[in-house]
Amino acid sequence: MNRDTIQKILIGLFVTACIFLGIQVVDTNNVLENAPKTEITAASSGSRMTYGRFLEYLELGWVKQVDLYDNNRNAIVLASSPELGNRPQAIRVEIPVGASQLIQKLKEYNIDFDAHPLPQKSLLVTIASNLILPLVFIAGLIFFFQNSDQSQNGMSPMNLGKSTARYDQRPETGISFDDIAGIDEAKAEFEEIVSFLKEPERYTLVGAKIPKGVLLIGPPGTGKTLLAKAIASEANVPFYNVAGSEFVEMFIGIGAARIRDLFKKASENTPCIVFIDEIDAVGRERGSGVGGGNDEREQTLNQLLTEMDGFKENKGVIVVGATNRVDILDAALLRPGRFDRQITVGLPDRLGRLGILKVHARNKPLDKDVSLIQIANRTPGFSGADLANLLNESAILATRYKKNVITKNEVNEAVDRIIGGIAGSAMEDTKNKKLIAYHEVGHAIIGSLLQNHDSVEKVTLIPRGSAKGLTWFAPDEDQMLISRAQLLARITTTLGGRVAERVIFGETEITTGASSDLQTVTRIARQMVTRYGMSILGPIALETDNNELIFKGEMSNRIDAEVCRIVSHCEQLATRIIRDNRVVIDLIVERLLDSETLNGDEFRELVEQYTIPPKNMA
Ligand code: ADP
Ligand code: ZN
Repeated sequence: MNRDTIQKILIGLFVTACIFLGIQVVDTNNVLENAPKTEITAASSGSRMTYGRFLEYLELGWVKQVDLYDNNRNAIVLASSPELGNRPQAIRVEIPVGASQLIQKLKEYNIDFDAHPLPQKSLLVTIASNLILPLVFIAGLIFFFQNSDQSQNGMSPMNLGKSTARYDQRPETGISFDDIAGIDEAKAEFEEIVSFLKEPERYTLVGAKIPKGVLLIGPPGTGKTLLAKAIASEANVPFYNVAGSEFVEMFIGIGAARIRDLFKKASENTPCIVFIDEIDAVGRERGSGVGGGNDEREQTLNQLLTEMDGFKENKGVIVVGATNRVDILDAALLRPGRFDRQITVGLPDRLGRLGILKVHARNKPLDKDVSLIQIANRTPGFSGADLANLLNESAILATRYKKNVITKNEVNEAVDRIIGGIAGSAMEDTKNKKLIAYHEVGHAIIGSLLQNHDSVEKVTLIPRGSAKGLTWFAPDEDQMLISRAQLLARITTTLGGRVAERVIFGETEITTGASSDLQTVTRIARQMVTRYGMSILGPIALETDNNELIFKGEMSNRIDAEVCRIVSHCEQLATRIIRDNRVVIDLIVERLLDSETLNGDEFRELVEQYTIPPKNMA
């Protein structure tokens, strides 16, 4: 028997099973059709009880009412018990044959019961309802088989086990290594692989072994796909491109068959590259599926492991995997001989961002006042994709304003948009507007007076996204490490908005506008305690990466107390700074209400004229 015949038989069996199940489904529905309304929902949502348990309930006096159906073979019982939360619930009980004493018992216990006759359905309806599902399946089957001959798309049953990888014999992805910046380590690694693919003799001559698998690990948009495309076109070898999710199938064995097929094709076309994006979809740790194992996925993963072991010496199939979640990958995948090279493709640093901006600025006319260095400074945390998007947005804005070149204004607006959302227009409501002005100036003044805080970039009353006003701070450099003093300064500054509302307008006038500030504050303070060992609880990691507490019980109260202590300390400091600087705050608010936006320099100028430097900085 060849594989196609086996597949046909399997599908035949599957359809038969479906028909059988279809009849079953129709049958059980009959039972419940006539049950009282409230009970149907509960019963069909799955509450069931054995007959024995039901008798116990009866004896304990927990049964309120019984409805018998289906010639007394099924009952819907209304019961209430401590284990049901003392709320009356409808439960289905199957009554074994020969339980005729049941009615006797029910009378004995004085239970309200009722027997419902079998539904008087017309014979025609019964036959029709029992036949519909099987007929649908048979029709589907005929349709499947008729199409399977011509079908090329892998969706017919005959093609289920075929790989869905997109394949390029001589790929022209149009991407070269010059188009990639900011991820030099990964690039260097790949340049080496390309040179192996081009001149394998050079490596084998000196006995060098080339890795079979390279795993790219990093957040989305950092250029992983870009790298894979670049090797394909630079090495000029066949390129198979597939996403891990394409191997995740409902039917056991299909994913594994697709992997087998992919590697079979690849090994007929060596040297070549197989790129598997989102490899975590197949490579998740075995036995970790929700509700026990997931046989299909495990088989698929096992197949992948086998294939990667298959070519003992690398004959020229290089598997490149990309993932964002290396932590959930099965350890077997990372063993030597499989993905033995792992390259982290992280978010770019300042120089990396500059490089990426240069790549994407190549085909865009930029005005000479646009400084890519300044953009790179303003965009920590941006991925390569975000930066590409930023320049693209700027170009769109320039077109909208009918300009031939992209100026600083468009770029700044694009940055604001990407970070904060689309701008609205400033509000007219004078009372709220004034309160928001104080709130924002509260953030800005504290941020600029605390020496451990980033400097103010801009304060504005133009709403953006869900924020009614905004204060932007410009980080001076990429921060890899953040000190305790900086975290405290961040908490104090973030509290500044609410504190200003309270000091100036009074306790009763504070608003809901601070809610996201408060979340930020709580998050930072909690991390200081549980992650960074920056509280009196000492240098202990109290929480895992998944926010699970490591020490249970009493410790959780101590953590909460510490979080409150940190926040309250910062709140006091913020209150002091706002009170001590009331004069300059009033003045800046006045200006802000007038012009709606103050840039960093304007803001600093005002501050320098009128402030008293705070004592005892956090
Ligand atoms: P990933 O596969 O890591 O999710 P992609 O490679 O698909 O990310 O990147 C999406 C887009 O972002 C690319 O097409 C490119 O325009 C841009 N990009 C991302 N990283 C870089 C980079 N390092 N250099 C240049 N452009 C990049
Ligand atoms: Zn705020």
